[in-house]
Amino acid sequence: MAHELDIIPGTEWGCFTLPRPMCIAGPCSAESEEQVMETARGLAAFGIHVFRAGIWKPRTHPGSFEGVGTPGLKWMRRVKQELGMWTCTEVASEKHVLECIKYGVDMVWIGARTSANPFLMQEIADALEGTDMPVLVKNPVNPDIDLWIGALERLNRAGLRRLGVIHRGFSTSAPIPYRNDPGWRLAIQIRTRYPQMAFFADPSHMGGSRDYLLELSQQAMDLGLDGLMVESHCNPACALSDAKQQLVPADLKTLLESLIIREKSSESEAYREGIEALRARIDVIDENLLRLLADRNEVSRKIGLYKKQHNVAILQAGRWEALLADVVASGVALGLSEDAIRAIMTAIHDESVRVQNEVLRKE
Ligand code: PEP
Ligand code: MN
Repeated sequence: MAHELDIIPGTEWGCFTLPRPMCIAGPCSAESEEQVMETARGLAAFGIHVFRAGIWKPRTHPGSFEGVGTPGLKWMRRVKQELGMWTCTEVASEKHVLECIKYGVDMVWIGARTSANPFLMQEIADALEGTDMPVLVKNPVNPDIDLWIGALERLNRAGLRRLGVIHRGFSTSAPIPYRNDPGWRLAIQIRTRYPQMAFFADPSHMGGSRDYLLELSQQAMDLGLDGLMVESHCNPACALSDAKQQLVPADLKTLLESLIIREKSSESEAYREGIEALRARIDVIDENLLRLLADRNEVSRKIGLYKKQHNVAILQAGRWEALLADVVASGVALGLSEDAIRAIMTAIHDESVRVQNEVLRKE
């Protein structure tokens, strides 16, 4: 299935004056009226137009700070009235949506724990039906692209067209420096499928520390994503949630100014000629790869026949492990990444097993 989405691009929502990076910023959580107003003033001072703050916080352990709840929505309303910013918060239930509508919140986002849950996504989509609120959907905690797209489809079917995504990385048990695995591969897949859809990266939750904000933000820009959602707090050391990853508004300004924003494309003749020549070379290489794979399949078929004549099982684990180790070593010597070679060789081997199975089945 195509899973088409009917979407209005972020540049037409009316809140992002600069096309790139579109920036949403504000504290992890709204904690007090003073903290909300001081942070929002600091951000508005250098042109941030969309203010985020968590009102209801999804926390791993009960008893952690779970957000101030509805009273915080009055502070958000003040931000909107006094500073002219758009306001944005996380919703995870029908009740949250109804409260946001009541208090005039301009935009909502769906958190990673909620986008992973189709029941909650449907409840939220139903509650938003009839509004034209922009909704940003964070990726689900696990790297499941269909779950992510399914969440967007539910909103789209409820008539919401101002849809965007926020990539905040995936939970992982792998020992990485970041809080979440950036898993940019999935982000690129979504980007390729829905190029019109506003696409934000959330370097704060991805990195889990101020130290990684710049490198992750730059990576997001290098991939051509539209914007960033960054946590900013007037006094991060005292933050009630995510203290290590928030930065004061002035430091966010510095960060944004130091980003290198690359053009999506270039109109220049020299660029066009250069890129076309390189792409033509890639096309030839891909064509050759396909021919080699077809040749390889032919040999696999012969091996299958041979094994059948001698009544030998298809999978020869020892041979496969030895082959993989050799190929990985050669590939690494050629400057290829070990992960990539493993993934490619595993796919090639799967195809070979499929071909041999086919031969065996044809009794
Ligand atoms: C947040 O943005 O405050 C948040 C809780 O993020 P996530 O859903 O990505 O964990
Ligand atoms: Mn947070």
